Amino acid sequence: MTARPARAARAVDALDGRLGGGGHQPERPRWDCLSCRQPWPCPPARVQLGEAYGPDRIGLAMYLGALLFVAVGEIPAASPGELFERFVAWTR
Ligand SMILES: [Zn+2]
Repeated sequence: MTARPARAARAVDALDGRLGGGGHQPERPRWDCLSCRQPWPCPPARVQLGEAYGPDRIGLAMYLGALLFVAVGEIPAASPGELFERFVAWTR
């Protein structure tokens, strides 16, 4: 087992804490928000994640990169480029 899937699994486990226990959790494997039904990370989830990381944009991008790794495997209908835009590009 390489380090990457383990890191991705830990990232998924940490979601609850990162989202501050708010309702904007992804419903896997569709990765739609359980609360507002938008593609996750929905705008409220982005705000919560941004607050969780504060000025650490690189940490935020790395965290979402780990989730992207999971989502690419679970949403085969979406292209990896689309998913990168959705999960990671907004953190810049
Ligand atoms: Zn939401």
